[in-house]
Amino acid sequence: MRHELGRTLLTAEQIAARVAELGAAITADYRGKTLFLACVLRGSAVFWADLCRHIALPTVTDFCAVHSYGDGTDPSGVILLSQDLTLPTTGREVLVVEDIVDTGRTLSLLRAHLLTRQPASLRICALLDKVERRQVPVPLDYVGFTIPNEFVVGYGLDFAQEYRNLPYIATLKAI
Ligand code: 5GP
Repeated sequence: MRHELGRTLLTAEQIAARVAELGAAITADYRGKTLFLACVLRGSAVFWADLCRHIALPTVTDFCAVHSYGDGTDPSGVILLSQDLTLPTTGREVLVVEDIVDTGRTLSLLRAHLLTRQPASLRICALLDKVERRQVPVPLDYVGFTIPNEFVVGYGLDFAQEYRNLPYIATLKAI
């Protein structure tokens, strides 16, 4: 099945304004601390790059990768932590930076794993939340936008590795 871009769901301006707000909230909440940002590859790379520049705190960043073996726009297959963080997180204030929460299965697995690494605290910042699709409850501490149940691309989010460079977020439709 072929796909093309549908409607714009969030403009670059809307995203930039909300990311700045998230950065300000995080800065206020962690004042006086060094924040450990755990960026979940690949989809969160663009979000992390913007968000971290709105956090006025000392930060350390590390990357992990989660792969979900799904089918096209249905990413509901087997989930694998394909790359763990490389830095120790014991006693650190860890904030997971995630692009999108759909069923919650990926973050639930990642959260359980990160808790075994004994952080001082573990919170989650997700840019997009498809709350209607949740199957597994997962606590989200910072959310950029709640979005409807549609497959979206852009601002780091892909379809078959395409569209990550779009500066806005759009739906994808089958043609
Ligand atoms: P989960 O269902 O475990 O919460 O989400 C699994 C993963 O599916 C997300 O981390 C993301 O990579 C991918 N995903 C879920 N919904 C979308 C979507 O609308 N667009 C894109 N590009 N990826 C999605």
